[in-house]
Formats: sequence, structure tokens, C-alpha cells
Amino acid sequence: MADPAKTVAFIGLGVMGYPMAVNLRKGLSAEYTLLICDVNKDAIAKFQKQMEGKGPVEVVENGLEAVQKANMIITMLPNSSAVKAVYLSPTTGLLPGALSTASSSSSSSSSSSSSSGTPHPKMLMECGTIETATILEVASAVKNTTLFSGTLTFVDAPVSGGPMGAEDGTLTFMVGAAQTADFETVKEVLAHMGKRDAVFHCGDVGAGTAFKIINNYLSAITSLAASEALNIGAKMGLDLKLLTEVINVSGGQCWVTSKSNPVPGVQENVPSSRGYEGGFRIELCEKVLRMGAQLAGDVGARTVLDGPALGAFGEAMRDERYRGKDARVVYKWLNESERR
Ligand code: NAD
Repeated sequence: MADPAKTVAFIGLGVMGYPMAVNLRKGLSAEYTLLICDVNKDAIAKFQKQMEGKGPVEVVENGLEAVQKANMIITMLPNSSAVKAVYLSPTTGLLPGALSTASSSSSSSSSSSSSSGTPHPKMLMECGTIETATILEVASAVKNTTLFSGTLTFVDAPVSGGPMGAEDGTLTFMVGAAQTADFETVKEVLAHMGKRDAVFHCGDVGAGTAFKIINNYLSAITSLAASEALNIGAKMGLDLKLLTEVINVSGGQCWVTSKSNPVPGVQENVPSSRGYEGGFRIELCEKVLRMGAQLAGDVGARTVLDGPALGAFGEAMRDERYRGKDARVVYKWLNESERR
């Protein structure tokens, strides 16, 4: 078996995880083994084929096997139930795996003078956008496990940048880590998948997820707000390119108006100008906005705009004309809707 200290596991080879794992394998030196794991066997087979000759790649069946073989485990999972399954399942989970590794390591050390008896430190890292309550549940379970073995650390490190950023290796990472040293450890690995200067230590475990959710809360609402404003101009027959230009040097300027304008043809190389394809899907936008509303409720922060914005995104994404498109498709939805 490869040295666990020189083995990294990646679980969840989906839209985001697959290209992240490709960049990780390319970034790690050949003395490192990359373990891959996904319930989708096609993704595993494709990855093995694509990465042939690019350094050692091995397949593991689940979190339990991954943590027994690797000291660093990265997960890129779609939702809370997948996270709970991968981390907490008593039969296949990362945490029971770490516990069994720690106890077998310490019992073998009592009969072997060559070993220090200290199991290798294990670092677990979730990079998906997962409900804060689940992240904190896993963090608390890890803490209890740490009390037993003293060797297990969990950080949350959600990303911004979407599938294009994952492919280009230019993701931003928002890391929640209890200790600066933990952050420095994960930063070395994350730098293979993102920009080194865009790996941020946001605070304690859970803070990375909070940063991510709060940012997306704002960008979801500005997507709708910019779309409403520009649609007023459209209904008046104004020059929307000029209107955008003026907004972008005035008080209404925001990322949406300047970098991903919702009006087709106003900017080149943005989703709205290619049929709202290849951007941040409206369903994901709605999911994270909902998480933001939930987080606001959990911490007692008063909000006004989340309710109407959720209603708008919900109505648009239930309509097959807008479903699956970039979230800025709310402009088209407004433009094609009757005023109520
Ligand atoms: P996805 O559904 O394409 O990928 C998830 C992968 O996890 C799939 O390959 C699935 O088979 C695998 N998986 C699910 N359960 C598993 C289990 N128990 N064991 C092993 N593998 C399992 O999702 P995605 O678009 O790659 O997103 C992943 C995460 O990143 C989500 O939390 C999402 O919110 C977040 N995110 C997505 C984007 C985006 O634009 N797609 C951008 C930023 C963040």
C-alpha cells in the first residue's frame, strides 16, 4: 500500500469534482497517489482513462477505504444526504474508517517498537456548498472522534468559479478551519485546483460555507434586481448597451451588470449572449439563496428580499423555457411575463 502521507483521496467526480481531480492529479508530483471514489462508475472509468500515464491513480469504494489509505481526503458532494453518507455511515463512512485506522495503528504500535504509536494526522475537507447545519454536524462528530484518537481534522472549503473555474484551475476557495496550521496544510493542496492567492481563511469551521452562502445570497438578489431594472429599460425601448454603460459608472453598478449582463447581446462571452448556456444554473442559484434564507433565520438576521426572490427563481425554473439555464435567465423570464 502507498504511504498514506503521500496519498490524497478525492470523492465526488461530478461536474465540479471531476475537473478539480484532474487538476489535482496534474499538480501532485508522481510520488503521490490519488485515490478516486464516486458512486457513478462511468465517471471513474473516464477519469482512469484520461489520466493514464499522468501519475498513480487508484479506485476506492467509499470513505472508509479512502481514509484508511490516505491522510488527506477531499470531498465534492452534491448535498447534505451525500455528505452524511460519506462521512458518517457506520459501515462505509470516513469517520468510522478513521477510528478503525487509529485503533489498529495504536494496537500494532504496542507490539512494535519501531512505530511511534501516533496515527498519521488525517485531514478531511468538504468543498461542496452544503447546509451549515450539516457542516457543523460533521465538525462536531469529528471533534468527538478527535477526542478519541487526537488525529482527525475537518475543514469546509466551498468554491466559487463554477465549472469553467474548475476546469481552468482558477477556483476561489473559502476555507473554514479551526487552526491557521490546518489552513496552511489544505492551502497547499487547494492551490493545485485554484488560484493560490484566492484561497481564503474565513474563520473557524463553517465560516467558509457561511462566506459562500452569503456571497451567493447577494449575487442571486442582484441578478434579479439588475434584470428588473434592465427590463424596465427594455420595455421603454431604450438602448440597453448604453444603459448598461451608464449604470456601470453609476450607483447601480454590480458584478451582474458589469461582468455577466443578463441582456442578450449587451456583452460578449457571457451566458446571456449564448442562450443562457454554460453559466451558473438557476436551480443551483435558488438552492444557495434558500440556504442563505435558512442561515439568516438560524442566526436571527432580518431579511426582506429573500422571499420574493425565491418566488421569482422558483417560478422561472418551473417553466421549461428557463429550466437548467444560467440564473440570469430571470431577465428573459421577466421580459416574457405579463405584469401583475
Ligand atoms: P454533481 O451532482 O455533478 O456531482 C456530485 C458527484 O458526487 C456525482 O458524481 C455523484 O455521483 C457523486 N456522489 C454522490 N453521492 C456520493 C457518494 N455517497 N459517494 C461517492 N460519490 C457520490 O454536483 P456538482 O455540480 O459537481 O456540485 C458539487 C458541489 O459543488 C455541490 O455542493 C454544489 O452546490 C457545489 N458547487 C457547484 C457549482 C456548479 O456550478 N456546478 C459551483 C460551485 C459550487
